[in-house]
Amino acid sequence: MDEQLHKLIACIFDQHADNNPIDCETCSIHFHRLAELVAAGASVNELLPEVQQHLDCCLECNEEFQALLSIIVAENSGLVASE
Ligand SMILES: [Zn+2]
Repeated sequence: MDEQLHKLIACIFDQHADNNPIDCETCSIHFHRLAELVAAGASVNELLPEVQQHLDCCLECNEEFQALLSIIVAENSGLVASE
């Protein structure tokens, strides 16, 4: 699980090596992977601080992300048996 997480994180960071400012479109590209990681116990702020910053000031994206997260959490709660 941890290895998979780090792989995904590395993948996300790869796409953000330039440290570009995040807009709604860029933000939403990461939502699905981020939500999966957050559902697995990670925090957005640790994974992608830029996205967290965007979520903090963009209500639209925040709502979209929370909706996605709750769906994934609900799915995982029935499916995932860690260890
Ligand atoms: Zn936005």
